[in-house]
Amino acid sequence: MARAGADMIHFDVMDMHYVPNLTIGPLVLRSLKRHGITLPVDVHLMVSPVDELIRLFADAGADYITFHPEATQHVHRSLSLARELGVKCGLVLNPGTPSHCLDPVLHLLDMVLVMSVNPGFPAQAFLSSSLKTLSEVRTKIDAARFDIRLEIDGGIGPTTIASARDAGADTFVAGSAIFGAPDYQAAIDAMRHALA
Ligand code: ZN
Repeated sequence: MARAGADMIHFDVMDMHYVPNLTIGPLVLRSLKRHGITLPVDVHLMVSPVDELIRLFADAGADYITFHPEATQHVHRSLSLARELGVKCGLVLNPGTPSHCLDPVLHLLDMVLVMSVNPGFPAQAFLSSSLKTLSEVRTKIDAARFDIRLEIDGGIGPTTIASARDAGADTFVAGSAIFGAPDYQAAIDAMRHALA
């Protein structure tokens, strides 16, 4: 991925409880870090509860950890835990999650991740309702003048990336658009070209 031109590794963690699918855990991240990956790793927790995995992923070397606010009993406490552990943290908005849930904790966020599909499965079509959510969150971030990344995840590829950028996203997760392509670098170049 680094050779193909990615800026960051997005690490999707699913627990077969918050979402009906199962992926990888902190031991895999630890192994990748030991193996020498140097790109920042952005851990997207699709798990419930979140606090113990925040600890384990912080310890495994995560650079960012994001989680879904409905997956923890105490959003403020979970964000504070991540910050105490020295990891950048953020919240994830599903297509059905209102953006005003960010308001009480905006000052604790390093990232907001807007889902443009429902979480749990790869290769879903981009939901255009996420563009409205992106622009709402962009307005909040700019009004507060906080340094918060605005990331979009789900159905991002050369045909959708520019509309996400225009709605306010500055960080783009692409899965199928890269891994479904024969040439990873060409796939990333095509998205950069769409943004140029
Ligand atoms: Zn993700």
